[in-house]
Amino acid sequence: MPLQTNDPNRKSWIGYSSDSHFPIQNIPFGGVFLTRDNVITIGTRIGDWAIDLGALQEMGYFDGVPPLTDDMFMQDTLNDFISDGKKTWRLVRNRIGDIFDSENPLLRDNKEHRNRIIFNMDEIEMQLPVLIGDYTDFYSSKEHATNVGTMFRDPDNALLPNWLHMPVAYHGRSSTIIPSGIPIHRPQGQTMPAGSDQPIFGPSKLVDFELEMAFITTDANNMGQPISVEEAEDYIFGMVVFNDWSARDIQKWEYVPLGPFLAKNFASSISPWIVTLDALEPFRTSGPEMEKPVLDYLKSSKDKTYDIHLEVDITPQQGKPTTICKSNFKHLYWNMSQQLAHHTINGCRVNSGDMMGSGTISGSKPDSYGSMLELSWRGERPVKLNDGTERKFINDFDTVTMRGYCKNGPVRIGFGEVSNQLLPVYESKSKH
Ligand code: CA
Repeated sequence: MPLQTNDPNRKSWIGYSSDSHFPIQNIPFGGVFLTRDNVITIGTRIGDWAIDLGALQEMGYFDGVPPLTDDMFMQDTLNDFISDGKKTWRLVRNRIGDIFDSENPLLRDNKEHRNRIIFNMDEIEMQLPVLIGDYTDFYSSKEHATNVGTMFRDPDNALLPNWLHMPVAYHGRSSTIIPSGIPIHRPQGQTMPAGSDQPIFGPSKLVDFELEMAFITTDANNMGQPISVEEAEDYIFGMVVFNDWSARDIQKWEYVPLGPFLAKNFASSISPWIVTLDALEPFRTSGPEMEKPVLDYLKSSKDKTYDIHLEVDITPQQGKPTTICKSNFKHLYWNMSQQLAHHTINGCRVNSGDMMGSGTISGSKPDSYGSMLELSWRGERPVKLNDGTERKFINDFDTVTMRGYCKNGPVRIGFGEVSNQLLPVYESKSKH
């Protein structure tokens, strides 16, 4: 099936600037939003305009696209649409591209329909696009794993023995995954002060971000049935930018022997527009060489990754943003296909709406490290902000903003941003 939606020469009758993340070649899904009439709908986005897919369908613009059910987009999550599979996602995305093509007068010249279908981003409230079932977090950046191993264990044996043989991961928790814009509270918990033999309870002093991307799956398999590296991409609906908030002091004390728990599950935030692999196709690129032979089920062609620029800003309260990290998705050692193949090799079932985090994406240069832990090297090298203040970790009222985009000639395909403010420890209202 041709991907005419990716034609770099295509223009839309909706205007946008040349550096928009959302040209007509993108057509992300998700963007579940409340309209100005307080109706919940599934949307897409062109430039700074949100498009109500429920209204488009109601007015017949998806007629002839099988097998869409009548209320497919008048829901509060994308899960049913994701379940319909890649063929449907592609047909719908192509149809949206056609409707908004500058040459197509059908909706362009129908003012009444346009007023019901198109919303300015300022008029709407974005929600979590997917009811996330299970959430798994990988640990697939060799640079990140090496930095952490160097700091906490042994620089000469920074990678644990399994790391070059499998995409290491743990099962996370989906109940505290939130969209961009929702503030979070500094978590409290147990920590073990240096030199002490008694843990203490209190606010985490080392709240950090983790620059990650995540992919969202469709129903991939039956229990017992592995998914091969070759077919894995067919089960990936799309990707988001993902901030896996972490409390390093809580993590350090609790993580042995079963891995992180409360240090990770107080908040994780995602960008609200899910960009499809179809939209990312022009940005396919080669990942790193495997440094050790891998078992057959993890053998992959090299081109199963994407060239996605990633940036992180810290913005103090009433201050200006400072970009503190520039990284790229292509640095990851293990690609998404290897991750999904490994995840299912034992027969583990993967469902529509599951989410898989990449793990912190660090590059090789110090300004490409994807966490404060690495950027400040455990606090030894504070990061300077452009207001003159320094950060070892995240302060109360700081906002952490992550952006992702691909660029290839004139076309930019972006994810927008995931931006959340850290508030002080939650105070129970009953105290007052
Ligand atoms: Ca993580």
